[in-house]
Amino acid sequence: MNKSDGPERMCIGCGRRAAQGELVRFFLDEESSPPGVVRSSPGARTGRGAYLCADGGCLDLALRSKGFSRTFRRPVDIERNSLLDGLEEANRKPREKIGR
Ligand SMILES: [Zn+2]
Repeated sequence: MNKSDGPERMCIGCGRRAAQGELVRFFLDEESSPPGVVRSSPGARTGRGAYLCADGGCLDLALRSKGFSRTFRRPVDIERNSLLDGLEEANRKPREKIGR
């Protein structure tokens, strides 16, 4: 049992629960037209977020199960490639303190 810091979030792809810092956060950018899902920058206040493991497989699972629409409670426009880029970018960052 290890108590992680911070809140736990659930990956909308595989349903795994993990510390918020281990998952990549996406939000619905309502200012773009049509509203699209984009990766949230750290510290941004963006309302409701959707979380994914930093793994393209979970992105595909989420797309197939319409996890994003469910999370945001509306049909959303998703550009798979731009989300994949977001995940890759998140993966490139050095991982800090992931407790094992
Ligand atoms: Zn996952």
